[in-house]
Amino acid sequence: MAQDRPRGFTTDILHSDRLRGAIEHGALHKPVHSSVAYGFEDAQMLAAVFQGTEKGFSYSRSGNPTVEALEAKITAMEEGVGTVAFATGMAAIGSILFSLLRAGDHFLSSAFLFGNTNSLFQSFAAQGIDVSFADATSLDAMKAALRPETRMVFVETIANPRTQIADLEALGALCAERGIVFVVDNTMTSPWLFQPKAVGAHLVVNALTKYIGGHGAALGGAVTDTGLFPWDRYPHIFDAYRSAPPARQALTQLRKKGLRDFGASLAPEAAHTLALGAETLALRLDRACANAAALASFLEAHPKVQRVYHPSLKSHAQHDRATRLFRHPGALLSFELDPREDLFAFCDRLQLAVNSTNLGDNRTLIIPVAHTIYFEMGAARRAEMGLAEGLLRVSVGIEDSGDLLADFEASLGALKF
Ligand SMILES: *Cc1c(COP(=O)(O)O)cnc(C)c1O
Repeated sequence: MAQDRPRGFTTDILHSDRLRGAIEHGALHKPVHSSVAYGFEDAQMLAAVFQGTEKGFSYSRSGNPTVEALEAKITAMEEGVGTVAFATGMAAIGSILFSLLRAGDHFLSSAFLFGNTNSLFQSFAAQGIDVSFADATSLDAMKAALRPETRMVFVETIANPRTQIADLEALGALCAERGIVFVVDNTMTSPWLFQPKAVGAHLVVNALTKYIGGHGAALGGAVTDTGLFPWDRYPHIFDAYRSAPPARQALTQLRKKGLRDFGASLAPEAAHTLALGAETLALRLDRACANAAALASFLEAHPKVQRVYHPSLKSHAQHDRATRLFRHPGALLSFELDPREDLFAFCDRLQLAVNSTNLGDNRTLIIPVAHTIYFEMGAARRAEMGLAEGLLRVSVGIEDSGDLLADFEASLGALKF
């Protein structure tokens, strides 16, 4: 099913559980299996499942049938070879570094990152992994930051909150040439807008919490291996996992060292909620992206708005790249108001957009960036990252477009500067 997709994206998701094996009572959804442990009549079978020579489940921290059904859907969406799901997107990212890097390795990341990911990488730097950050929109800047001991490059597709787009094609080619693991966080695009495999990504991260779940009702994360990296030549695979086929060695190590040992396992109830959300990913995201493009052009034309960042706009620095690579240019935008303006009052006047930190919810959410998600890093680092003090981030939802534009128009009408 994964290789040359015989059916459409949404058809695959809807019929995945049923077609991957008969479900009890003819259920159309994989049931929620809440059992922590699995019993065997035959101890030989228990041993074989432990040793990986037979498929099966032993303890839910390292694998669960409901979670596995979701993993299969993510694998199909990304057309990869396999997926490991985690309790959160952060756990998925942390497990990649924890299980595949060693002290002394160099790790190169985009400087434009989800705030908690940035903070996480700083923690790994304190543990002996040499971490550096560079402008991922520029191949030259990233190339200049590479070292002989660089093992891994990490980028996001569309960075939040300023919507910079990494030079994904060139970085994929560079990593392939140098034998470096290329990790792409696909959260902001999701596999409906973009498959990082197309640009040579080796590992793909999805925070399922965002567009894939879509309803802001459950946390979850996933790492998918695209099958493009020759793991038999990667020095940090433990001997115990070398017996797996090369394409599955990193997945096995992620599941054992990342998921099993570190233990940030996705709950089966959350996996079920996320799988329900995933059924309508394409429908929701088409609508949210159309709303975002409409709101972006409305804001750009408004005299009280200083700057708007959304890849649908011709004024966006990577507009052409977004048009070439992505089905739609995403549902997140940000814009700047005059710094003398009372940002909190602007947000409070909005009747529909909710003051909230999440993104990828069906509801439109707004947040003043400097006072919240980028507060901890301080004004100097914000200026370095090009984050204006008057920047507002909007995660655009699926409301009726006219209602959304009217909501922003009314609040903009009360501005002073
Ligand atoms: C939210 C987010 C994460 C983290 O996901 P959680 O499920 O909240 O841990 C990682 N990367 C990006 C780009 C995100 O937006």
